[in-house]
Amino acid sequence: MHLSIEPIPAFEDNYIWLLRSTETEFCAVVDPGDAQPVIARLQGDGLRLGAILITHHHGDHIGGLAELRQTWPEAEVFGPEDRRITGLTRVVAEGDDVHLPDLEIDLEVLAVPGHTSTHIAYLGDDRLFCGDTLFAAGCGRVFDGTFEQLADSLQRISSLPSQTRCYCAHEYTLANLGFARWVEPQSGAVAAAIAAAEQLREQGRPTVPTTLADELAVNPFLRTSEPAVMAAAERFASRPLAGTTQVFSALRRWKDERYD
Ligand code: ZN
Ligand code: FE
Repeated sequence: MHLSIEPIPAFEDNYIWLLRSTETEFCAVVDPGDAQPVIARLQGDGLRLGAILITHHHGDHIGGLAELRQTWPEAEVFGPEDRRITGLTRVVAEGDDVHLPDLEIDLEVLAVPGHTSTHIAYLGDDRLFCGDTLFAAGCGRVFDGTFEQLADSLQRISSLPSQTRCYCAHEYTLANLGFARWVEPQSGAVAAAIAAAEQLREQGRPTVPTTLADELAVNPFLRTSEPAVMAAAERFASRPLAGTTQVFSALRRWKDERYD
């Protein structure tokens, strides 16, 4: 069985990830914020929806749920316990196994709060569907989670095997790399990543998934123990910072207040 993961673009810059295989017409999607592009792709390719995976409650990730359930009532809908999400058929939490029998894959649920208080990610086969927790060269903003939670969640993600491919939910890479260059202006890895991302975007291609190895080289939010990143964060904060959580929080505030 050959599993393939394909982006379905939605809105301005969202990716709804489609999991499909050559062996079955049943497929799965992650974070369908809009039903229409999903319906169009599945009907165009002769696919049926067997499962929906939700990472968090924001509208650009769940907005298509009701219509997709009407179209494919048999689809299982996995997501975190959160009363802001309606239409789940199975609530999942840290450590749970999401078994997708049609696709012959198992995904482990990771609790990764911070962007929101109930955000989860799905991990399996060296692939991480991370919603708005980690982006290529960046991370989500803190909405109803806390800076400490997001720092811990990113720490946890960064300890996964370096070949892990991260399927982020947005195409924010070039903008994020611009901030990465503010933080580490001397970085050759950041300069190379900007050149590579510009080339992909000129060709109309997505810059994600990204690998954890690449993220560890360029993403300032995963580099909070690097001396150059700590020094940059301290310059922004105008005070010494003790520990990676403080460095992370300063970086996140710096990007929120000055860059975005
Ligand atoms: Zn979000
Ligand atoms: Fe989002």
